[in-house]
Amino acid sequence: MKIKGTCKRDGREFMVEQVVALGGECPWDGQPFNADYAATLVESLREAERLGTEFERALERVASLNPAFDLDEESVLGETKAQLARLKRNLVRQP
Ligand SMILES: [Zn+2]
Repeated sequence: MKIKGTCKRDGREFMVEQVVALGGECPWDGQPFNADYAATLVESLREAERLGTEFERALERVASLNPAFDLDEESVLGETKAQLARLKRNLVRQP
């Protein structure tokens, strides 16, 4: 899963893999996205992309089996959306 983000400081977009490669820094302003927990942030971003891909593949396999059921979207994506909304709420540019 290729995840895209936006820097709160400069408003520019980046790919998460860039931040992972840079050890947690913004590819544009060079500042850490979280100075105190850079390693945790990088590891979590890497995990989100890796497991996101696994998750998508599993759902793809389920869908390709054409099973006799539908899946409830909120039960699959609800918590994911909640965490993204949490990040978005905090996405305020610093003066
Ligand atoms: Zn930045």
